[in-house]
Amino acid sequence: MIKINYECDDCGKFNQYTLNKELLLICEKCNNKFGTINIDWNYNCNCLFCSKKKFYKRKNFNQLFGLLVIILGGVLAITFYDKYGPLSYLILFVFSLFDFMLFKFTKYIGVCYSCSAEYINIKDVDLLPDFDHHQLEMYQK
Ligand SMILES: [Zn+2]
Ligand SMILES: [Zn+2]
Repeated sequence: MIKINYECDDCGKFNQYTLNKELLLICEKCNNKFGTINIDWNYNCNCLFCSKKKFYKRKNFNQLFGLLVIILGGVLAITFYDKYGPLSYLILFVFSLFDFMLFKFTKYIGVCYSCSAEYINIKDVDLLPDFDHHQLEMYQK
């Protein structure tokens, strides 16, 4: 099952698609037709939305959530400091570790340099390069 997220250029609507078979991608708000995606689409194909072929991989990780976990760990560590002394910092350590594991097991998603379309659950996402700022300047409109 492939998932695609794309913010429409014309109206700014954030479209989310899920497909099990061929699907015609249409903006939910302005009915802009982006094209048809096939279920065997991969990162060697052109981007459905901008026809370019340059993708990078990014962890599909909620950084705000990650930050909240660390903050919670810090608050708990301070709360328990009276009782356990420096030992309470173990709590913070455990929470950091949890955060790290969460990040580690979060899957990569592929993102188009040019139009920021997100392609999720496509094979070989690990082979994509990491985000590179110079590439972004080259490819972004
Ligand atoms: Zn639109
Ligand atoms: Zn694109």
